[in-house]
Amino acid sequence: MVALSSSSKIYVAGHRGLVGSAVVRAFLLKGYQSLLVRTHDELDLTNQAAVHGFFNKERPEAVIMAAARVGGIHANNSRPALFIRDNLLIQDNVIDAAYRCGVTKFVFLGSSCIYPKLAPQPIKEDYLLTGPLEPTNEWYAIAKIAGLKMCQAYRREYGFNAISLMPTNLYGPGDNFDLQHSHVLPALIRRIHEAKIRGDARIKVWGTGTPRREFLHVDDLADAILYLFQNYDAEQMLNVGWGEDVTIRELAELVMSVIDYRGDLEFDTTKPDGTPRKLLDVTRLKGLGWKPRISLETGIQQTYAWFKEHGALARL
Ligand code: GDP
Repeated sequence: MVALSSSSKIYVAGHRGLVGSAVVRAFLLKGYQSLLVRTHDELDLTNQAAVHGFFNKERPEAVIMAAARVGGIHANNSRPALFIRDNLLIQDNVIDAAYRCGVTKFVFLGSSCIYPKLAPQPIKEDYLLTGPLEPTNEWYAIAKIAGLKMCQAYRREYGFNAISLMPTNLYGPGDNFDLQHSHVLPALIRRIHEAKIRGDARIKVWGTGTPRREFLHVDDLADAILYLFQNYDAEQMLNVGWGEDVTIRELAELVMSVIDYRGDLEFDTTKPDGTPRKLLDVTRLKGLGWKPRISLETGIQQTYAWFKEHGALARL
């Protein structure tokens, strides 16, 4: 295991995002004092010269790669070029610069959408590249697969110490609550909150309500990143999930009960369902001694409290 101390310089790429901000909170709490961050205005990660210049100057010892172009089913589906281009450029620049500057630990983050659309459930890490992807987010997925393969290739050829983690659908404070471009959970929190305030009799839910999704609170993910940052150095990528899933209808009902909204659900079947089910097999991660703690109900309560305090912060 690489020895990194609490004063090691750690670059958290994407520190203003849902994942990056949770990583900063978790690492600071654990006593890491030398976190290096840059806003998008200060450093454009799609710009190769800028990224290499930054690494040469700052020379971080470790990197948590939480920067990516992300969005929900509609954003992914309607901006295929943006999603594949930005993600390929960002990760290629950061991984290569980190290797060239002698970074001793690199954590790459992917997504559960890298797996085949009809993968057997729960999805084991071994199912990668065994079937066609879900078309609504294949651009993002292809980029993320390239990223994790790049980490494996750099480890094999150059001995670069990169690990790859594949989180399930995430949510939590700092999420994007934009109604068109966000993921389902923040969209439902906002829509149900606004319906309650307006006194609407019903709210719209995209699709049929039957797809199943697994949700992990981002503070649990940050805790897993911290744990694996300290305890895991291997080529094998790891799923990070909660271990159970719910239907979109059940999710909407849970959000309604947290917000105390008593209207009806109306399913808008002109909108896509996406993949029917996406539940990660987390046996490997459990075997390494980590498990999540924040239940979906508690997590929604906490995220709703954050939303009421901060309002909608659309990021796309
Ligand atoms: P996915 O896991 O990549 O499909 O990402 P999403 O979180 O965007 O969507 C998950 C599921 O929730 C899909 O079946 C959507 O059709 C459904 N869904 C229901 N209402 C909404 C909504 O308001 N926004 C989004 N993004 N999805 C919704």
